[in-house]
Amino acid sequence: MHDIAANLRSLKSRIPESVKIIAVSKTKPVNYILEAYNSGQRVFGENRVQEILRKKDLLPEDINWHMIGHLQSNKVKMIIPFIDMVQSVDSYKLLTSINQESNKINKITNCLLEIFIADEETKSGFAPDELYEAIESPDFDNLKNIRICGVMGMATFTDDKEKVRKEFRNLAGLFKDLKTKYFSDSLYFNEISMGMSGDYKIAVEEGSTMIRVGSLIFGERIKN
Ligand SMILES: *Cc1c(COP(=O)(O)O)cnc(C)c1O
Repeated sequence: MHDIAANLRSLKSRIPESVKIIAVSKTKPVNYILEAYNSGQRVFGENRVQEILRKKDLLPEDINWHMIGHLQSNKVKMIIPFIDMVQSVDSYKLLTSINQESNKINKITNCLLEIFIADEETKSGFAPDELYEAIESPDFDNLKNIRICGVMGMATFTDDKEKVRKEFRNLAGLFKDLKTKYFSDSLYFNEISMGMSGDYKIAVEEGSTMIRVGSLIFGERIKN
């Protein structure tokens, strides 16, 4: 049994109105997405290019798709025409590909810088020092077809709530530092995307503006 509309309502009642919900629909069928859509949800997160391409043509056009999984540079051009935001920008090379493909179609693509905050090898993202290096590189300001809207991160998968809190606090601290040092003039650098089904409460307490929630809305995933 699942009741996606009720799950969404219940989630909304537990977070401030200002926090955006990204409904993570990876592995879930389009009828589940449509159910969420019909209850008002418009922003959905997916982590595989082929999967978004397949699903989006079967669903309403006013859905905002967020890419939240590792993106290979050679697949960038397939999603740029319709993607609302790439949350998982984890290298300077990827940033330049997104810029280049966006430029070709005269689009400015919203991006979040994914930062590695966990202590798991499996998670991706910029190490903080790599990030500063990327932003300070002389070419960075020439990337006119990307819009950096903030940061994204994933905490370690653990029951240790204090550890998770510390990682989220680090990410929020990094966001503030970047905002002060490099983006104080930007109208767009406002988002801290952190928190998933298991840790969104802590993330919101630590300043999250966007939570990426899958299983709590759509039910547990079989795999992935
Ligand atoms: C799958 C995934 C989520 C959502 O995970 P849940 O635990 O199902 O809420 C959030 N962010 C990223 C990057 C993911 O890959």
